[in-house]
Amino acid sequence: MNIFKQLELVGFKSFPDKINVTFDGGITAIVGPNGCGKSNVADAIRWVLGEQSAKLLRGKSMFDVIFSGTEKRKPLSYCEVSLVFDNTKRWFNIEFDEVIFTRKLYRSGDSEYCINRNSCRRKDIIDLLYDSGIGKDGYSIIGQGKIDEILMSRPEDRRSIFEEAASISKYKAKKEESESRLDRTRDNVSRLMIKYNEVGNQLAPLKKQSEDAKLFLELRDRLKDLEINSYLYQYENANRIKSEIEAKTKGL
Ligand code: ATP
Ligand code: MG
Repeated sequence: MNIFKQLELVGFKSFPDKINVTFDGGITAIVGPNGCGKSNVADAIRWVLGEQSAKLLRGKSMFDVIFSGTEKRKPLSYCEVSLVFDNTKRWFNIEFDEVIFTRKLYRSGDSEYCINRNSCRRKDIIDLLYDSGIGKDGYSIIGQGKIDEILMSRPEDRRSIFEEAASISKYKAKKEESESRLDRTRDNVSRLMIKYNEVGNQLAPLKKQSEDAKLFLELRDRLKDLEINSYLYQYENANRIKSEIEAKTKGL
């Protein structure tokens, strides 16, 4: 079962009338003479998946994707492409067995994206695609001349093309995200270690100060006791001396 089920074009490039391309099991091939619109079909897939580069769509401006007329037919003011996916295996993280992405563009400049015919943002489509591993750059669309480019490219670049096609890129992106989070945590840990050591260095003098303070309190209490005792002694002693003197003066 293909994950791509159907492509619907209206007013896109050389297709003024609505056409449906169905992708049954196995390989679907589109054949025809030069200039019949084969590459336009691939462009339509790129476009509905959110392509923003007119150049990659082989045009000068984005409006070049709207049917611009022929000798026999007037230009159209609008184009629309829908791509229907099978989602019974939940490739896309939404609870529908079928996912339809749609993109529309009007010559007035208005444009719209939809998921299952409901208006959405481009980002919603990109996020769904990205999470599914299909990828926003459409690497898996290998256009005319691309094979040579892939064969001639540096091994690292070639690797990234295959990684994208093998849906590894989403895991790579997640790995990079986790690694950067890990780096941030490592930074935090080393900052905490610096603080910990600083505090550790202050610990010895603080311990000494706290022992001194405890000793001070003990000595202060002891001093208070001794002072009270000394007053009591002096008081009693004074009383005794007073009575002795009184006794002596009486005897005189
Ligand atoms: P080849 O076999 O040479 O690669 P192809 O089948 O891939 O050809 P495409 O490049 O898909 O052909 O189609 C080119 C045709 O599409 C041209 O005739 C061009 O005039 C037509 N075309 C492109 N954009 C538009 C447009 N906006 N309006 C009308 N026709 C368009
Ligand atoms: Mg072509």
